[in-house]
Amino acid sequence: MSDAQQPTDDGGPGDDDFEPIQVFPEAEEMDLRPGADNCYKCSTCDTNCPVAEVDDEFPGPKFQGPEQWRLKRQDDHDIDDSVMKCSNCMRCDSACPSEVPLSQMHNTARAEYVEENMSKLSREYWRNRMLANYRRLAPLGSMFPRTTNFMMGLSATQWLGEKLLGITGQREFPEFATETFREWWTARGGAQVENADKRIAYFHGCYANYNTPEVAKALVRVYEHFGYEIMVPNQHCSGTPMFANGMLEDARRSAETNVRELAWALEDGADIIASCSSCSMSLRQEYPELFDFEGTEEVAANTWDAVEYLRVHEDLEGELEGTSVGDKFDDFAYHAPCHARNQGLDGQTVEVLDAIDGITAHDVGDSCSGISGTYGWKKENYETSMKIGSEMFEHMEDADATSGLTECPTCSMQMEHGTGYEITHTLEVLEAALVGPAEADGQ
Ligand code: SF4
Ligand code: SF4
Repeated sequence: MSDAQQPTDDGGPGDDDFEPIQVFPEAEEMDLRPGADNCYKCSTCDTNCPVAEVDDEFPGPKFQGPEQWRLKRQDDHDIDDSVMKCSNCMRCDSACPSEVPLSQMHNTARAEYVEENMSKLSREYWRNRMLANYRRLAPLGSMFPRTTNFMMGLSATQWLGEKLLGITGQREFPEFATETFREWWTARGGAQVENADKRIAYFHGCYANYNTPEVAKALVRVYEHFGYEIMVPNQHCSGTPMFANGMLEDARRSAETNVRELAWALEDGADIIASCSSCSMSLRQEYPELFDFEGTEEVAANTWDAVEYLRVHEDLEGELEGTSVGDKFDDFAYHAPCHARNQGLDGQTVEVLDAIDGITAHDVGDSCSGISGTYGWKKENYETSMKIGSEMFEHMEDADATSGLTECPTCSMQMEHGTGYEITHTLEVLEAALVGPAEADGQ
């Protein structure tokens, strides 16, 4: 019996002939019925959900996806508000043995819930909209970065953020860089290597531009070391925080710009490279699941994680053999982000760093960090977020290392928040090994 023929015991869509039906208006032409029919209720997704593990009131991904879909189709059933408690970690997506498109269902259900059931005057709506649209606020904050950092660092600001907006006062806001990556890129005169045969388009995302340009610079130096010509196209937010907050129209606008700009880069012979695992996840999986702009599939098929691309197209480990990072770094406690795990990239950093003399990346296991982008910044989720992260914190502290390593900016925040460790991005280690700190600092 095929998955699509699995019996249903709820009088659901398996009981009648297949006819395409638009259940979620937000989903437009999308028909999720074949995916829902694939669910045979094994509950594997539920046992892999980090939120369900620590929050007894969260009904879990099976309910959020196939069951909610069936209820919705049977009558004019409202989307259950628990969909807003899903952190969008996408672990259920990888865990499902039957290819049920769980994250696609969650994203469309969340969008419908926000559109139909959440008051546009509520604090929750405006707080979520702000968090989801970091890209619109960050340029303001980075106009006067020192002043912004000072103001955002005041305990009074954190207190007000919690009282007025519902943004937890337990976390410190990330600092803005004094020079954004794009400012640095322009000041250095753009690409320093011309090579029509080896060209990449760098999707840096918001965080590496406004907050951690050292990660983006490391990517540039490492790729130029391998002789790549780097393009830095115009770009908007990848949409990850918008999907997670049910702001599908905001995500659609960003995605349309990104697909258009990146499709042009493909025409120029470039492949698309991301340094943030959630950005690559979004371009590769969420865009084709949710949108059908011209070029969406091509962009998805030609997007790579920065380290993955070098492993496939270059002899990265061979180039790293015999290199060292001197005193710059020591051993790391490494956390593979859920969105890297979802792309099958959870083992690559440990393997790659193994080629560098004198340092080791200790994998701290497959637990979720718990912050999941904007999720752990919401006051009502803070405790749950820290409960989920506790396993990772313990394993980091048990590892033979005093600093952390990851590829996701918000996992990095949570790792630092839970342990006090300094956190590094894998590209910065590759930069130190291949380019050297002296050369890197001078450019
Ligand atoms: S893991 Fe997949 S098949 Fe199993 S209950 Fe969840 S959605 Fe259904
Ligand atoms: S995306 Fe993560 S939090 Fe949401 S239902 Fe799936 S496993 Fe649970």
